[in-house]
Amino acid sequence: FKKCWSPNLVHWPLSMKWSQYFLPTLREDPKDAQAISHKLMVRAGLIRRLGSGAYSYLPFGFRALQKASQIVRDEMTRAGAQELLLPALQPLELWHATGRDALLGDVLIRFKDRTGKEMALGPTHEEVVTDLLKEVRSHKQLPLTVYQIQTKFRDEPRPRSGVIRSKEFLMKDAYSFDVDREGLNRSYQAMYDAYQRIFARCGLNVLACEADPGMMGGEVSHEFMAPAQIGEDRIVQCAACGYAANLEAAKCPPSALSLEPSAERPKPLEMVKTPGKHTVEQVSQFLKVPPATLIKTLLYDVEKDHVAVLVRGDHEVNETKLVRAVGSPPHVKLSTAQTIERLSGAPMGFTGPVKLGGVRLLADHAVMAMVNAVTGANAPEAHLVNVNPGRDFQPSATADLRFVTEEDRCPTCRNPLAFIQAIEVGHVFKLGTKYTEVLGATFQDADRAVKPMLMGCYGIGINRIVAAAVEQHHDDHGIIWPAALAPFQALISVMEADNAELSQVGAQAHDALSRAGIEVLLDDREQSPGSKLKDADLLGIPVQVVIGKVWQSDHRVEVAWRATKEKTKAKLEELVETIRKLLDRGGVS
Ligand code: ATP
Ligand code: MG
Repeated sequence: FKKCWSPNLVHWPLSMKWSQYFLPTLREDPKDAQAISHKLMVRAGLIRRLGSGAYSYLPFGFRALQKASQIVRDEMTRAGAQELLLPALQPLELWHATGRDALLGDVLIRFKDRTGKEMALGPTHEEVVTDLLKEVRSHKQLPLTVYQIQTKFRDEPRPRSGVIRSKEFLMKDAYSFDVDREGLNRSYQAMYDAYQRIFARCGLNVLACEADPGMMGGEVSHEFMAPAQIGEDRIVQCAACGYAANLEAAKCPPSALSLEPSAERPKPLEMVKTPGKHTVEQVSQFLKVPPATLIKTLLYDVEKDHVAVLVRGDHEVNETKLVRAVGSPPHVKLSTAQTIERLSGAPMGFTGPVKLGGVRLLADHAVMAMVNAVTGANAPEAHLVNVNPGRDFQPSATADLRFVTEEDRCPTCRNPLAFIQAIEVGHVFKLGTKYTEVLGATFQDADRAVKPMLMGCYGIGINRIVAAAVEQHHDDHGIIWPAALAPFQALISVMEADNAELSQVGAQAHDALSRAGIEVLLDDREQSPGSKLKDADLLGIPVQVVIGKVWQSDHRVEVAWRATKEKTKAKLEELVETIRKLLDRGGVS
């Protein structure tokens, strides 16, 4: 990627004069902004808010967005994907067919058109693309991966952090169609690899995390997470082996427990009175034992049946994992107080696994390692102590049913895990036949059998690439663009715009750079030198050329690298070469 800074934007002006460029900068942070990227993107003249979750991109910001799009296009093409464009305007019936209109609820923007037909604005395009691909008939036309870069609409309940979570945003969404599982695996891997290249080229630090497919459905998925304080997602990472997963998906096998197996001997089972003590906290305080010695018993409704889920007192049930463990469609619900009383014979807070008749017991792995535990007694105002799994109750299944905690170890190598806040910039899913079956996207195989295609879907938030880059690359003074996303490569600041000689030199430098194919912004505005230098740092263009005192004293210009503020001097005729070297090396060296 040595030449990754070289511009792709041939259809755009390579150079601009700021005096004529619509690039307003602000000294003050916008009042509604918390995220650093939000503040800096407004102050550096990239975006302006129109309304809740809707932002305008100004020319300077749009250049960054286009650079990100171009890198994405480039890598999609390299991975063999074909670009198309699907409508944002969609008949609601298509969403009805897959049941996702209900699943998305108010996030899906719906309305009636003038004929009274119910419509939606596309929040994503699995339905539309699958419908289109019905035109594919034969295995000979497959595999196929298509993609688009297009505006999506989601009426997000909490738009925040500027363009990181907005109601209207630019997404690259790709969809692969294959004849069999091996094909899907190959298509998925090709996209996964393309994503790694995209984020590397964009200068983003991104971790590929094991994830839960959520509302997309399907079986396997990875999220590409850019670590940043403002990120809404929490992930775990093992520095030793590289394992990374989001909190929903992080595995907790028996080996994840950091505690050594207890050497305690099992003691005789005993019932104790615990009047009015029904929470983990109350019971552990009352009996003077740590919460980790308690077993929580939670009753869930699964379809028309019930299961009792057992986790350690200091652990939380992960319902996503529970759904997988019970192997049902996503309908598990905590039972009501009445159901609990009916099944356990005691009010809520006193349920336990011992002699809990008629209910399937599902135990988390950590429960099975406990010795002399405390549980509800299935009797009012009472708990059992010295409960031992295997001796006092036998679960019908043991599984990973809980969320990872800070005490847990890496599930693959047992080293400590780090908990990191991150922004989800991309997501890849293996969907299988979930959509193609319902919508009838089938093909005829070599053996003439008609089968549904196997599908994958792959999203990237283009706006989030730009915002995450700003989150990861800035200092107290402003943005520090990764070279490949920088709206311009060089900024020339003429210190006194009313000085004919300096202006002349500025114009010459500007012309030389644009002739050499370097994208350059010339700051020829009538402003104080101090304010121009402040703006230069705020904008974050990688190379800063200053034409001022150094020119007046020894006919050379100052060239600084924004990231490190290291400086060098150059004669006008050496300027292009000096800047090329800086960009190639990524700084002064
Ligand atoms: P999140 O979990 O952050 O809500 P998601 O899982 O709903 O995102 P996907 O449906 O996987 O997102 O969309 C693909 C990509 O589109 C995401 O990885 C993200 O980069 C981007 N994206 C999703 N929602 C938004 C939004 N409201 N604003 C900006 N970008 C978004
Ligand atoms: Mg997601």
